[in-house]
Amino acid sequence: MNRQDIEALVRPNIRALCPYSTARDEYQGPLGIFLDANESPYPTGYNRYPDPHQKTLKAQLSSIKGLPAENIFLGNGSDEAIDLCFRVFCTPGRDNAVAIAPSYGMYAVAADINDVQMRSVPLGADFGLPAEALLAACDAHTRLLFLCSPNNPSGNAFDPAELEEIIRRFPGIVVLDEAYADFSAKGSLRAKVLEYPNLIVLQTLSKAYGLAGLRLGMAFADAYVIRLMSMVKYPYNINQAALDLVSQALKQPVEAKVAETVAQRGRVAAALPAYGFVRRVWPSDANFLLVQVDDADALYAHLLADGIIVRNRTRVRGCAGCLRITIGLPSENDKLLASLDRYEKGDIHR
Ligand SMILES: *Cc1c(COP(=O)(O)O)cnc(C)c1O
Repeated sequence: MNRQDIEALVRPNIRALCPYSTARDEYQGPLGIFLDANESPYPTGYNRYPDPHQKTLKAQLSSIKGLPAENIFLGNGSDEAIDLCFRVFCTPGRDNAVAIAPSYGMYAVAADINDVQMRSVPLGADFGLPAEALLAACDAHTRLLFLCSPNNPSGNAFDPAELEEIIRRFPGIVVLDEAYADFSAKGSLRAKVLEYPNLIVLQTLSKAYGLAGLRLGMAFADAYVIRLMSMVKYPYNINQAALDLVSQALKQPVEAKVAETVAQRGRVAAALPAYGFVRRVWPSDANFLLVQVDDADALYAHLLADGIIVRNRTRVRGCAGCLRITIGLPSENDKLLASLDRYEKGDIHR
């Protein structure tokens, strides 16, 4: 695909959009007297509007992620970027999107909110990528394909070569959600946005970076796609406190925490099959495990009564009998396993 092909996929009203601009864009000096935005002149630390282009944080993330700032969009969580994909590319009531299932619930919610039909394509055996079925689900009005790797809730990362083949063959925008890529040995495809203008890679600071409370999601894509998303977003979508705190937090390395989580994932995954009520533990490339048990509702209730909250996925299609368990601190994982010991013995809450 080339730039013209991408342009043809954009909603006509967005293609024609003239974005909101601020007078401050015209002033680049250091110490101006700002009488343009009706802000209060009295310093509170936050009396000025934040930079709508997030230049400083993008420069910092550019060096961490190894991509030019023009290929980076910052959103109020990945959830904002997911919603913007619909708003930029899908005409409500007409266009449609395709996604793997089971996967992250926000794709379907954002589709519903935007009045865009979502076509779910079930993953194959062992949650494998159904490449041909995904491509077969498309028609002339398909604009987006959502893939998630490592996938939530199955935990597996897909083969990068298989993903790339889909990106090459899909006649629309492929949104590849890599929220959990930091925990996976398969790595990230974000560098490929320089090669494929129809690829949007989503990442987030909510998981490995431990900043879920600050709401900072990233989209990596062709510079034209980034410009479209930036045009449609709220001008001040990332607040000043988030810009400051994220910038500070990014100076701390995350590798040791990620390594501990990966080691703990191995430990919990190795311990689980010994329980009689555990039927299956799927291999995980993420910071959680999908576990199939004899009675998911009963085990969920037992853990809850012990003050341990996991995600009950038993009513999700393809996840019958499954709980999704996040890997916690070593001491928290100890408590999880101790609670499972009690459940096995039939001690309490049963
Ligand atoms: C947790 C998660 C996200 C993160 O969303 P944010 O809005 O950035 O917190 C994105 N995608 C998937 C698949 C997730 O599980």
